[in-house]
Amino acid sequence: MSEIKDKILRVALQNALEHGKTNEKIILGKILGTEASLRNQIKEIMPEIKEIVTFVNQISQDQIRQQIQDKFPDLLVEKPKKQDEREGLPPLEGAERGRVVTRFPPEPNGYPHIGHAKAAIIDEEYAKMYDGKLILRFDDTNPEAERLEYYAAIKVGLDWLEIKYDKIKNTSDDIELLYKKCQEMLDGNYAYVCTCKQETISANRREMKACKCRSLEMEQSRERWDKMFSKFGQGDAIVRFRGDMNSNNTVMRDPVLFRIIETKHPLLGDKYRVWPSYDFAVAIEDSIDGITHAFRTKEYELRNELYYTILDLLKMRKPQVIEFSRLGFEGMPVSKRILRPLIEDGKVSGYDDPRLPTLEALKRRGIVPEAIRKFVMSLGFTKADTLAPFESLESFNRKIVDPTSIRLHMIKNPVSIRIKSLPSDSITMANHPTKDIGNREVEIGDELFLESEDIENLKPDEAIRLIGLGNIKITNKSPLEARYIGDEMGTSIPKAHWVSQKSAQKIKILIPSQPFNGEEFNPSSLEEINVFTEPYYNELKEGREIQFVRFGYCRKDSMLQAIYTHK
Ligand code: ATP
Ligand code: MG
Repeated sequence: MSEIKDKILRVALQNALEHGKTNEKIILGKILGTEASLRNQIKEIMPEIKEIVTFVNQISQDQIRQQIQDKFPDLLVEKPKKQDEREGLPPLEGAERGRVVTRFPPEPNGYPHIGHAKAAIIDEEYAKMYDGKLILRFDDTNPEAERLEYYAAIKVGLDWLEIKYDKIKNTSDDIELLYKKCQEMLDGNYAYVCTCKQETISANRREMKACKCRSLEMEQSRERWDKMFSKFGQGDAIVRFRGDMNSNNTVMRDPVLFRIIETKHPLLGDKYRVWPSYDFAVAIEDSIDGITHAFRTKEYELRNELYYTILDLLKMRKPQVIEFSRLGFEGMPVSKRILRPLIEDGKVSGYDDPRLPTLEALKRRGIVPEAIRKFVMSLGFTKADTLAPFESLESFNRKIVDPTSIRLHMIKNPVSIRIKSLPSDSITMANHPTKDIGNREVEIGDELFLESEDIENLKPDEAIRLIGLGNIKITNKSPLEARYIGDEMGTSIPKAHWVSQKSAQKIKILIPSQPFNGEEFNPSSLEEINVFTEPYYNELKEGREIQFVRFGYCRKDSMLQAIYTHK
């Protein structure tokens, strides 16, 4: 028997360490699971389990840890992860330990969102997996869309996600070098300067027709290129790759390599006005930055041919380009193209509106970075587009915030009740049912707010248990009055939470839901409710996670407002 007792203790301690508390059923299941022969001894072992579980539930987490250290130290040894396997991420082709270089290349044209988090986390996890390096490279070659504010916002977002990069740079740092590479393209006659109108160019590409500019002599293109820096204005001329106007891959039909943009660049002002296209810049930059594995989303797949061809023609080192799927949420657009107009048209309050999938908004709503990382890693490296349910992110988050979320009472639809003969006028309540995150003193008074639905459902003469206070019985319906009837724990007594009227704090809770129904914006996707909560709310720091009892997890946004995180 002592051997079995040991086993029970071991399992109970381990279970309590993981979950804060343990219970008899779980332990019985675990014991039988490892030792089927005990199935016909349940009667004998059950009392042992009961005793041990009671003991384990009484001692603190520190004591549990101490017990494990003394008796079962092997439980504390972390199981080593297999070296080249991070959950969900397959090994990288051609990767050598210490040699892998990845990059995260955001364009500073908007606030970072969960899709960027996915890309950056995968870039970082692969770099870590191979003891490699991660470069953060601002892909800033379109001054019309880019703003200083966004460089900063992206850095703030990555810091929040705790993404560590080994180097930070801007594509615009290399503009002179990109010009040189363009000249090499022109000198090799791999590119030409086209002065056709935008509409003509588009029509020709559709109809697979070459224009006259394509047959220019190399020198003429060089002259035109020089003019792009002086005489030509925006829209007058572009450098085009000499591809194949008959290619089935539309990308290869003489795409743009350089264009004139007169708008001031956020970092370089009006020093430059000739800017490389995404396709040209990304290929050259990846190559010179020493990138070995370049990840991007699947919609860029058709651009790979151009990427590799440019590098081949310039005899430059070629990284390996790898695609993964774009991450999106149902009913929640994850793209700057859709997010920006929502904000500009005032449909949402800003980039941190809690309905949005921007990192600012997720943070404000109470989603923690660790949950985002776990969520992204759980999706793994898929190529098929992922429309994840938001609930999946929520469930990772819930597990993380539960142990630190302070439990507070909050009443949405208050009913006033006067209670006679309560035994005391203040009580101590635990801030968490199982974790040691402190207590608070709660003043009671004889008038409380109860949730109207708790009262409505009450049958005549039925007792109700006020959480932490004891049982009451309604003595009068109007005005509503009740009498304290003791503290006996009956399982059948319905429970209710309450807030003392004299110290009740009025706050607002914002409840976000999906901002889109299909393609349509839902203007009532942010509900606001006025509620009463305990005065202890005032003592919490902004950003504190709360679980309003019987309602759900929220995050304190300000003195007057909390935001609903999830159930
Ligand atoms: P958006 O549509 O939001 O402008 P983008 O791809 O233009 O997206 P970039 O700033 O250019 O945004 O993206 C930086 C990196 O993040 C790129 O590697 C891109 O592939 C990746 N990325 C952007 N959105 C997503 C997404 N929804 N899911 C996965 N990766 C994404
Ligand atoms: Mg972009």
